[in-house]
Amino acid sequence: MNQSPLNIDTMPTDLFIGGAFRPSSSAKRIDVYDPASEKVIASVADATTEDALAAVEAASAAAEAWAATAPRKRSTILMRCFELMTRDAEKLAQLITMENGKALADARGEVAYAAEFFRWYAEEAVRINGEISVAPSGAARTIVQYQPIGIALLITPWNFPAAMATRKIGPALAAGCTCILKPATETPLTAYAIADLLAEAGVPAGVVNVLTTSTAGRVSNAILDDHRVRKLSFTGSTEVGRVLLRKAADSVINCSMELGGNAPFVVFDDADIDAAVEGAMIAKMRNGGEACTAANRFYVQRGVADEFSRRLAERMGALVTDDGLKDGTQCGPLVNKAAVEKVGALVDDARKKGARVLTGGNAPQRKGFFYMPTVLADVAPNSDLLGEEIFGPVAPIVAFDTEAEAIRFANATEYGLVAYVYTRDLARGLRVSERIESGMIALNRGLVSDPAAPFGGVKQSGLGREGAHHGLLEFMEAKYISTNWS
Ligand code: NAD
Repeated sequence: MNQSPLNIDTMPTDLFIGGAFRPSSSAKRIDVYDPASEKVIASVADATTEDALAAVEAASAAAEAWAATAPRKRSTILMRCFELMTRDAEKLAQLITMENGKALADARGEVAYAAEFFRWYAEEAVRINGEISVAPSGAARTIVQYQPIGIALLITPWNFPAAMATRKIGPALAAGCTCILKPATETPLTAYAIADLLAEAGVPAGVVNVLTTSTAGRVSNAILDDHRVRKLSFTGSTEVGRVLLRKAADSVINCSMELGGNAPFVVFDDADIDAAVEGAMIAKMRNGGEACTAANRFYVQRGVADEFSRRLAERMGALVTDDGLKDGTQCGPLVNKAAVEKVGALVDDARKKGARVLTGGNAPQRKGFFYMPTVLADVAPNSDLLGEEIFGPVAPIVAFDTEAEAIRFANATEYGLVAYVYTRDLARGLRVSERIESGMIALNRGLVSDPAAPFGGVKQSGLGREGAHHGLLEFMEAKYISTNWS
């Protein structure tokens, strides 16, 4: 890609295997839709199991040389990926908005975030240190060395098509692994644009391969059945994560799993309400609510519940909801019709159980997969939307009385990705942070995502961490050498 404006018709749409774009062996294609207009904007190749095995072959052919490439060289190539992604940021942002729907401002934020994973892992590639110690008995020296784990299958969702890919490709390449990326069929164009950019940055042929397919289960099973593949890094729903963990058990494949969330957003009555409302807008509305980190349940202490609800409803009700590419749009469409239907059903269920609609509560009568930003007060504890990911612009509010009750509500879920806590009392903030069962806590903040920090969940939100040095270790094996030279 170069600096010219985005022309969707010239974007790569074929499989990227062994450093070249090529059609699928079946010649079948998958349509890609613009969620704002519901129109087909492109079609991409539909990979078969034969194509999948060609990708494993390409990754295998490149593996030895890439693992042996000097860390400084791997680092330089990754830094070049960061520079090229930054150069093409505006075009990539437009592409993301066209296939995902999110507002351009969100897409720009995503590209900046995505590029940072290349920069961070360019820096990490030259910081792969081992350990050496004397065995407690004194009889041996213990040397621990970190080696690339091997060929990795990377499976990503549609909600962050660029960032979820670079958050895996960056550490895989820094560690010296080759990989196969399988993006979601809703947002394949961004993945192929990134592949193009990696080739331009000097990533050798076969080190990164990209496959889109309408038969995700069959294609990924074929890859995981090949014993040369040693790693599965998956981001997506808990439901599909479980299926993949079972499959990975067949070959005892090392798994990193970034799964679903059901984030509580807890506001104590001593909180700075201005900051809490501001943080709530970010935690709820980044990506129009289509984020695993999206605040899914608002627990607000009774003394400030009315004020917080009213002010959040004012802000949510004022959001400009329109085609993500239009200037001034703050909330774009959801990804597809099924997403709108799911959000609508969850809101209807909450309403039937007694929730009051403070703003929104409907899908507008227009073309595109839109749902109006919604705030619900007095949400009953048995409402479905408190138990599952809403993945849309809906904020359900429940009042609580005591700190113990807030913690109990927050932990009443099988998920444990992130939680948001607002209080001016730092001791309380830290005490509650320790007791909430989640991999990440945003204390008086509406955002946790940071390439330099370990992102990930506990309970059924996942296994392992992405970002930071932790993310690099997910693509490495510790090898221990016992020796003695005394
Ligand atoms: P999804 O689980 O439906 O799909 C994710 C990916 O898995 C897609 O590429 C899909 O094609 C593929 N897939 C589906 N079935 C498969 C199978 N049987 N075998 C192999 N691959 C298969 O999720 P989605 O709807 O694309 O994304 C939304 C979900 O992702 C939400 O649950 C969200 O919380 C989660 N998510 C989590 C994180 C995180 O970091 N924890 C980040 C973003 C999204």
